[in-house]
Parts: sequence; C-alpha cells; structure tokens
Amino acid sequence: YSGKKPGQELAEKLHQITINDIKSVPVVVSEQCTVYDAVVTMFIEDVGTMFVVREGGLLEGVISRKDLLKTTLGGQDIHKLPVGVIMTRMPNVVYVESDASVLEAARKLITHEVDALPVVRQVKGKDDHKDLEVVGRFSKTNVTRLFVELGEGAY
Ligand code: ADP
Repeated sequence: YSGKKPGQELAEKLHQITINDIKSVPVVVSEQCTVYDAVVTMFIEDVGTMFVVREGGLLEGVISRKDLLKTTLGGQDIHKLPVGVIMTRMPNVVYVESDASVLEAARKLITHEVDALPVVRQVKGKDDHKDLEVVGRFSKTNVTRLFVELGEGAY
C-alpha cells in the first residue's frame, strides 16, 4: 500500500497527463468558408467545434454548432455568408498548450462553458507579435475517453 489517501493517486495522474498525450486532430476551416460549407464539414468530420485559421494554420476563431444553428435561423444567405462574420474571434478564444495538464484544460472547459479548446503552439509573428498555430483539439470527448481509460486501469 502506497500510503496515499484515496483519490490522491488519481489527482496526481490528472496533473501528470498532458494535453499532448490525449489530444485529437483539429478540424479547421478558413475565414472565407461559407456557413453552408462549414455545416457540411461539421457533418463529414463528425466534430462539434471547428477552428478558423489563416495561412500557416494560425488561429483566428472558433465556430460551434450553436453559432451555425443561430445563423441558419437568422434568415441570411448561408451560401454567401462567411464564417468569419459569425465566429468567436481572437482574442476571445480560450486555448491550451500541449504541455498543459489535462486537469488544467478540463478546468478551462468548465470555467468558460465551452465544449472544446484549440491546442496551440506559440510562434513568432510579425513585429515580435505572438501567433498561435493550431496543433490539436481538446474536447469533452477527450475527457470522457480518459475517464474510461482511467477506470479500466490504463495509465
Ligand atoms: P455548442 O455551440 O456546440 O453548444 P459551445 O458550447 O462550445 O458549443 O459553444 C458556445 C459558444 O462559445 C459559441 O458561440 C462558440 O463560438 C463559443 N466557443 C466555443 N469554443 C470556444 C473556445 N474554445 N473559446 C472561446 N469561445 C468558444
């Protein structure tokens, strides 16, 4: 017996497991992508949240199911309207870096009441400006999968 309190070992694991260990592949679209094409992409790729990027995979925004639903109710021409108009835009996007703990990232999902976070890497942009390159996706599904794996004794 390790002498640790019940729960303490699990807590340690949740601090140790990083986003890099469990992140998923991101689904990205460009700002010019129409709302119609974004809906199609969401179905084809089977995700609830997509990240909007510019050249180089640099983060510009996030587009969720509700953003798209709301727009389709609004009566605008979804074949012409670009997602850039309706997305949640930087600097309002909540993100996480690869070396963050899964606990820290899951806490962000709860605190900000969102389903997914872009996993980013900071890159040097123009005039020492920091840009964020999208390298992954971390969602409630990742948390649930980890939960199952922990329950089954993995890790
Ligand atoms: P859904 O719309 O599928 O329920 P969310 O609850 O995640 O998904 O999205 C709710 C709102 O929060 C949307 O307007 C969306 O653009 C925004 N949002 C989603 N993810 C993020 C994020 N990581 N950072 C900031 N805003 C986000």
